[in-house]
Amino acid sequence: MPTLRNNYEYLFCGAGPAGLGPIIAAARLGRLEYLLDKGIILADPAGPGGGGMPHYRISANSLGGAFLECLDDLQNPVFTAVREHPETRRLRELSAEHPPLPLVGRFLDRLGAAIGELVAAHPRCAVLRAPVERIRLTEDGLVDAQVGGEQVRARRAVLALGGRPMDGYRRAEVRPGLSLAAHQHKVCHAEALIDDRQAPPAELLAAIRDTGRVVVLGGSHSAWAAAGLLLSDGHQVTLIHRTPVQLYYPSAEQAHAEGYPFDPVADICSMSGRVNRYGGLRGAARDLAIRTLRDGGPIRLLQAGGPANEALAEAGAIVAATGYQAILPPIEYPDGGELLPALSETGTVVTGTGHLVDSRGTAHPRLIAFGLGAGLAVAPEIGGEPSFTRRAVGIWLYHHDIGRTILDELLTPAEVR
Ligand SMILES: Cc1cc2nc3c(=O)[nH]c(=O)nc-3n(C[C@H](O)[C@H](O)[C@H](O)COP(=O)(O)OP(=O)(O)OC[C@H]3O[C@@H](n4cnc5c(N)ncnc54)[C@H](O)[C@@H]3O)c2cc1C
Repeated sequence: MPTLRNNYEYLFCGAGPAGLGPIIAAARLGRLEYLLDKGIILADPAGPGGGGMPHYRISANSLGGAFLECLDDLQNPVFTAVREHPETRRLRELSAEHPPLPLVGRFLDRLGAAIGELVAAHPRCAVLRAPVERIRLTEDGLVDAQVGGEQVRARRAVLALGGRPMDGYRRAEVRPGLSLAAHQHKVCHAEALIDDRQAPPAELLAAIRDTGRVVVLGGSHSAWAAAGLLLSDGHQVTLIHRTPVQLYYPSAEQAHAEGYPFDPVADICSMSGRVNRYGGLRGAARDLAIRTLRDGGPIRLLQAGGPANEALAEAGAIVAATGYQAILPPIEYPDGGELLPALSETGTVVTGTGHLVDSRGTAHPRLIAFGLGAGLAVAPEIGGEPSFTRRAVGIWLYHHDIGRTILDELLTPAEVR
């Protein structure tokens, strides 16, 4: 018989940057004790920490200072060691730069371990270093989960298990007339290049070496970062993008001063005044894009259309940087039927407060999903430019506006929802 853990308010499935976000937001806002008193169980086989971040072999798209900002409001002595660690000091030195993600990731690991300590020390809470294997919604309004060898019952599940490439990305129709289906044998996802826990298939690496040509598909930070890695390995890179390349600017004045064309309403975040706050390239990806646009520089840039098909045919390998959907454990309705999450072009569908939407269009207040692959849409609570049609993800947002939005949702009594 598996051990039964009962009477928890929240089961956090995944304690990476997103899962820890609402807890960090609660600690920042002086509401941590209130949250923990309700009863939390944190489950993650890797333990609370930086999730995928320590493994990305690229630099951050955010400034070093953005990762550290949460520390200003975290007063508990458990954070002193994090604050004073030599690598945190190193990150602080890089406050105005785009630091390497492994350095950021190790900082987030330490921050996560400190949060884990606080949660584990609370009599109503527990931390399990185990995977959530399945979840069932019960008739009596709870979630019943299998976590390692244990059975856990809680009122709500927070699903933040990270992301995986979108289903069918190898055969995706990028736009009418431009499909990967005929080339699927030579397609791999950008995460195979970027994430040090993975590697592209050996035959694709050989094909890139033989032909010297590789296509990257997509226009995001990951696409340009993958292109940069391939370029530094000496390959000839073509980047195929669907929408115009967008750059981030800290203010409209700066964008004007540099002659960057933007829509004064649609491209500006009303909360921060920044241009392309969510959709614009930053850091090394931005620099590479600017060099490419200005000089006809190191990367061949093609908008999805005629010559793009030829480029796909000629390439030794195609790296798809076409986004993520959420990793979710199998979920059952009370009648035992399988709950299938709704998927859109931008990932797993969730409401503005993170309720997971199923393929029937029903939003589930007992299942709160967010993080990589399940970003929140642009909304007044989290800011962002109206023209941004993808989903908001990012560590600063987890610690601040998204974390607070999810925290408010978690603390809203069921009768008010
Ligand atoms: C290449 C890349 C670069 C990025 N760069 C930046 C950046 O510079 N700045 C920024 O702010 N954001 C960045 N992001 C976006 C985002 O902030 C990160 O992806 C962040 O790691 C997302 O956090 P997460 O918790 O959603 O997922 P993850 O970091 O993947 O964490 C998921 C957690 O869930 C756990 N888990 C998995 N399966 C289970 C299970 N069955 N049961 C329990 N737990 C489980 C994992 O062990 C892990 O700890 C980047 C994203 C990518 C893909």
